[in-house]
Amino acid sequence: MRQCLTSPDGGYYTAQNRDRDQFGQKGDFVTSPEISQIFGELLGIWLVAEWMAQWRKSSGVEIVEVGPGRGTLMDDMLRTIRNFKPLAASIECVYLVEASPSLRNKQKQLLCGDEPMEEIDIGFRSRSKYSDLPVIWCEDIRFVPNDPTKTPFIFAHEFFDALPIHAFQSVAPSPQTPSTIQGLNGPVPISKPTSTALTPQWRELVVTPSPSPSLNASAPTSPPPDFQLSLAKASTPNSLVLPETSPRYKALKPHPGSVIEICPEARSYAAEFARRIGGSPLPSKTPTTQTTKPIPSGAALILDYGPSATIPTSTLRGIRAHALVSPFASPGQVDLSADVDFTALAEAAVEASPGVEVHGPVEQGAWLERMGIRERAAMLGKVSGAAQGKDGEVGNEGVRRSVERLVERGGGGMGRLYKVLAIVPEGGGRGVVGFGGDVN
Ligand code: SAH
Repeated sequence: MRQCLTSPDGGYYTAQNRDRDQFGQKGDFVTSPEISQIFGELLGIWLVAEWMAQWRKSSGVEIVEVGPGRGTLMDDMLRTIRNFKPLAASIECVYLVEASPSLRNKQKQLLCGDEPMEEIDIGFRSRSKYSDLPVIWCEDIRFVPNDPTKTPFIFAHEFFDALPIHAFQSVAPSPQTPSTIQGLNGPVPISKPTSTALTPQWRELVVTPSPSPSLNASAPTSPPPDFQLSLAKASTPNSLVLPETSPRYKALKPHPGSVIEICPEARSYAAEFARRIGGSPLPSKTPTTQTTKPIPSGAALILDYGPSATIPTSTLRGIRAHALVSPFASPGQVDLSADVDFTALAEAAVEASPGVEVHGPVEQGAWLERMGIRERAAMLGKVSGAAQGKDGEVGNEGVRRSVERLVERGGGGMGRLYKVLAIVPEGGGRGVVGFGGDVN
């Protein structure tokens, strides 16, 4: 998944000479910020509400977005925030975490226009077209400075579903317990087959070459993909370690046939967000609520698709030209994605920092309605024909249709499939706007 999506050599997002755009009607998929400007505006409003709830800081605010795509969401957010002068004045920097050089250039064009872009030690820097605000690009969140005196507001829209997953299936014990594990170069003997092999074991689903089609078979109309998922014959290092990292996975192990997907990188990103907001725990002996960040501040908002509470199962898919395709078809030419395990993100965040709490996940439709999508649509609809859904739909009707698309709950509607999760400073039960709370 990682190689297919972000390898500098032919990765779906990172290849130098792509002939097709990933986004939009002519590309492979359309994301919410590309459907309506209201989406980014409401995320901007959420930031305003959280900033108000956290003592309206007059300096030290940073906005971080991971996986900004075309930059549309950040552009709509910054345009909205500009109207809230004390907040706008408190923002010191915008950081964009982006693996793709070509998308970085698109984001720069949209957010900074003709301002020059220079290379700096952590990535690239330019200036917002709206103000003097520095905009800095980093390839990984670890390059974004982590200063406990700052207040980072972190956004991730359709980023987590692109991070590589591992899949495992629980298998009943076999009478002959294998005494090997699968190493990179074949089976490796393990000294003592453990007694736990008498109970079901996790086996990793690994990518293997597809069997060559039989010579006698009639030529298929489209050749089968070169690779497929197969159950490893023995334990792998991953299958021994990853499913042991949460009681949710352990609870499924005794049930042969259970399949789980685990995304270690998603867990580490959620943990990183949490530590930036709430600080890392101090060494033992000190009370557990104390962290390296004396006053937790900032927030993270994660929007993506996936189940609210269950562990994703067999959700790896390929997407090309708005249709589902085999994830093994045309590697590097096809978008790959897997459902996001929101409970795993929540678990990772609260484990990483005693200074945070998590709200949600809630369904995107409900969240947008609580944030005022209907009211904003009514306002925008009144503003002459300039009001438009970005998907080529103009005027009042265009706004109405794009809003319906974002909140639609029936069938595979985005309003239900997509979820929203917030990580905020631990606040003794304060409500969070969009998750049932109010601005006070
Ligand atoms: N948030 C945007 C784009 C979603 S597509 C939107 O909703 O329209 C995923 C984005 O994440 C792209 O910008 C892609 O280049 C970036 N990306 C994917 N994997 C990444 C990784 N491992 N590190 C940094 N950026 C990544």
